[in-house]
Amino acid sequence: MHPDVIILGAGAAGLMCALTAAQRGRSVLVLEKSNKVGKKILMSGGGRCNFTNYHVTAENFICSNPHFVKSALHRYTPEDFIDLVETHGIEYEERRHGQLFCQNSAKDIVTMLLAECHSAGVNILTHCNSVDVTPTAENSGYCLTFEHDNTRQTQRCESLVIATGALSIPTLGGSDFGYAIARKFGLKLIERRAGLVPFMFTGSTKNLCERLSGLALEIEVRCNDQSFTENMLFTHRGLSGPAILQISNYWHPGDLLIINLFPEIDAHHWLLDTKRSQPSIHLKTLLSQVLAKSLVTELMQEFWSTLDGRRLDSIADAQLRQVAQQLQHWALKPAATEGYRTAEVTLGGVCADGISSKTMEAKDHTGLFFIGEVLDVSGHLGGFNFQWAWSSGHCAGQCV
Ligand SMILES: Cc1cc2nc3c(=O)[nH]c(=O)nc-3n(C[C@H](O)[C@H](O)[C@H](O)COP(=O)(O)OP(=O)(O)OC[C@H]3O[C@@H](n4cnc5c(N)ncnc54)[C@H](O)[C@@H]3O)c2cc1C
Repeated sequence: MHPDVIILGAGAAGLMCALTAAQRGRSVLVLEKSNKVGKKILMSGGGRCNFTNYHVTAENFICSNPHFVKSALHRYTPEDFIDLVETHGIEYEERRHGQLFCQNSAKDIVTMLLAECHSAGVNILTHCNSVDVTPTAENSGYCLTFEHDNTRQTQRCESLVIATGALSIPTLGGSDFGYAIARKFGLKLIERRAGLVPFMFTGSTKNLCERLSGLALEIEVRCNDQSFTENMLFTHRGLSGPAILQISNYWHPGDLLIINLFPEIDAHHWLLDTKRSQPSIHLKTLLSQVLAKSLVTELMQEFWSTLDGRRLDSIADAQLRQVAQQLQHWALKPAATEGYRTAEVTLGGVCADGISSKTMEAKDHTGLFFIGEVLDVSGHLGGFNFQWAWSSGHCAGQCV
């Protein structure tokens, strides 16, 4: 017996598609390459899964066609997913910027998806590495070749859904299989690169980051007309933390990052005002009142070694202006990102032009669907990537 629908990949998008299709009465088989389903869900959000966000808009996504995500996000909203979470009695909490996390464990989300799949009759097979897809001879569906238990098998289906994710973190299932299938069926691909990923530096900047490793502070970071105000973390290799991961989506090799260590105030005015109100205070002492001492020591050494030990009233206003400029426009040039090894997402992917935004079906191939991260859709940090997986998975599940 052949199932109506085969879904390749039991990640967030694949499981959502499976339960939606099975609830409509379709017979569904999900084939998963690894030994476990939903590995990325289990690892996400520090083990608590940031499963959606209260403030989801198309602006939270990067896609060559900025309108592409709108229909799916409208058809399956964060509220729809929250309803499901609440129906299963999963406790969750809101954190900064409307991010919703499980209170107990990300495992609750996988258990919920599996329970829904189970009660709708979805068949899930792990340890199945899909190797090829061809249209059936009569062009009424697809033939899938996969390896299971060291044997090569073939299955036919009416609708085939590619939910194999993207390249990030190969140990969690990252794979280029979806792109190979897209290419085979003549779909355009948008160039891939690592997103939501830490930066690495070389030379003196790397040494500075290494010495400050573990220090986190709120900053504003800018690159290519985008900016984010969030925490930044110094690491042994360079920079990480939410602000840095967010801006990495907009960075290209060679670009500078501009870091503002005082996102809330005008540092020049602050220095001049303090010079008037506390003329005898040392610059280093003043800066150490608002920034970590270790960071101030590094900054003094790197940029203002001649001002070390100087009172504010001994520093000319023009020099204070330069200090302020440095504090608010610290330009750093990353050598590279850490790449797919640690990237939370892959930017680029299967081009939206060839895909229906309502159903996720390939426009030129009836019955062939692409959902989730394999598509050229990447969200900001904050639960947006899972919301895209739920929304795109649900839309395809309604049509397969
Ligand atoms: C460490 C980490 C933390 C994250 N935290 C969050 C977060 O808190 N919030 C958020 O919104 N997003 C988060 N993300 C991003 C989010 O996990 C992804 O955007 C989302 O999982 C994409 O869903 P997907 O179903 O498209 O792909 P995946 O979840 O990657 O699922 C794809 C599945 O396909 C399987 N597969 C691959 N190739 C084959 C093949 N040939 N045959 C069969 N199966 C195959 C894989 O094993 C995998 O199970 C995080 C990502 C990472 C790496």
